[in-house]
Amino acid sequence: MTSYDCIVIGTGPAGSMALARLGKAGVRALGLEKAFFPRRKTCAGALSGAAISLLPLGFQHLVRQKTVQVDVHCLPGGLVRSFQFTEPIAHLIDRDQFDGFLQQQARDAGAIIREGERVMAVETCLDGAIVHSSGGSYRSQVVIGADGAHSIVARSQGLRPPVSGLGLEVELDLSPRLQREFAGRIIIHYGEPPNGYSWAFGKGDHASFGVALLQSRPPDPRPYLERFLKRLDLPFPQNIPWRGHPIPLGGKNHPVSAHRIILAGDAAGLTDPFTGEGIAYALESGRLAAAHALGALQTGDFAFTEYSQEVQARIVSQLEIARKMAKIFYLMPSLTSYCLEHQSWLVERYFQMVRGDLDYAMLLGEIRGHLSVPNLPEKQNQPRTRQLQDIPKAGPAYLQQNHKSQDKG
Ligand SMILES: Cc1cc2nc3c(=O)[nH]c(=O)nc-3n(C[C@H](O)[C@H](O)[C@H](O)COP(=O)(O)OP(=O)(O)OC[C@H]3O[C@@H](n4cnc5c(N)ncnc54)[C@H](O)[C@@H]3O)c2cc1C
Repeated sequence: MTSYDCIVIGTGPAGSMALARLGKAGVRALGLEKAFFPRRKTCAGALSGAAISLLPLGFQHLVRQKTVQVDVHCLPGGLVRSFQFTEPIAHLIDRDQFDGFLQQQARDAGAIIREGERVMAVETCLDGAIVHSSGGSYRSQVVIGADGAHSIVARSQGLRPPVSGLGLEVELDLSPRLQREFAGRIIIHYGEPPNGYSWAFGKGDHASFGVALLQSRPPDPRPYLERFLKRLDLPFPQNIPWRGHPIPLGGKNHPVSAHRIILAGDAAGLTDPFTGEGIAYALESGRLAAAHALGALQTGDFAFTEYSQEVQARIVSQLEIARKMAKIFYLMPSLTSYCLEHQSWLVERYFQMVRGDLDYAMLLGEIRGHLSVPNLPEKQNQPRTRQLQDIPKAGPAYLQQNHKSQDKG
């Protein structure tokens, strides 16, 4: 049986990030991936500022669209607000190319990756772990489960997966007229589906259309997507596959490690329960997983309790706030309309967060600050630019901390 220092299962953003870090550190690392790349991945492909700050150089050629306009519709009332930006608010990519790029980075760093090899079970013992795949069995000191929302690693270790919502997506070619209409612009409809939203993200000659149902036991999403396309006046696609995939609803503290085992990304349930965003958290937890695996190989302590604590402090604590915001926001659609119409400062702060200049904790602090101001009308009358200047320029705390520990690693 071949032995490795670390086996990473799955080469999505979490797994490839971990493998690249391990490869660079000179660790004997193996990646096992059930698919052959490039593979289709059900995802809208929006990269937030936080995701971009974690990416290696050289990904820019993969960007299909830089978003400078967001049109938000609130249903059923029908309020529409259009937000324009001078700097891109999000970068849109196609996941098949993006994941292929990250996987190649991991190979270039020295990791061995075997595609078309599905992992069926992972066993642990005192002196290591054994991974059983469709290609054979391997021994390893550490196993990183980066195998997505259906994680076999989490299940085989009894690490209860988080409750999942559901995303349904369809990708359609755009006519030249629609390409012009969608250039630099994305459309979001809130209120339909309830507890989620519908999106249209143009990416040049094609676009991703979908619905995110961010609730446990989600209903059938197809009628919502059909109605969304109808509202956009787009023909209902015939013979085009609809792709559904779970969206783990992060923000609950649950174990993301066990003896010799670390979970990262969707496998650890690290997806934003407010937006469904997961790529940034997959990259971040992949990076942390590699750092803790390296630490364990040096110290011989394979309990990984500190990994769970660090994920809780850096990521889950942020997602806990997102979870609370989602509860309020999605349960009270009229509040959404009210904020869009009357609370521009809040909407602006939210977009600043998407761009990576704030995190949820900072946003919550801003909201609390506003609510505790005794003379609210006076504050509202202040020029908006003045409010924007109050924002610290240094960016979200967790990104600053990232850079520190990247230096360490
Ligand atoms: C419809 C939809 C839209 C989304 N849109 C966005 C978005 O716009 N922006 C954003 O940031 N996030 C989005 N997300 C979330 C995002 O896609 C995930 O959070 C992200 O892909 C998680 O990365 P990961 O590496 O943890 O897992 P994955 O990307 O799921 O990668 C897991 C990998 O493991 C492999 N694997 C699985 N099981 C096994 C096995 N047994 N053996 C070997 N290999 C295995 C898979 O083939 C896959 O390559 C969306 C999700 C959905 C469902």
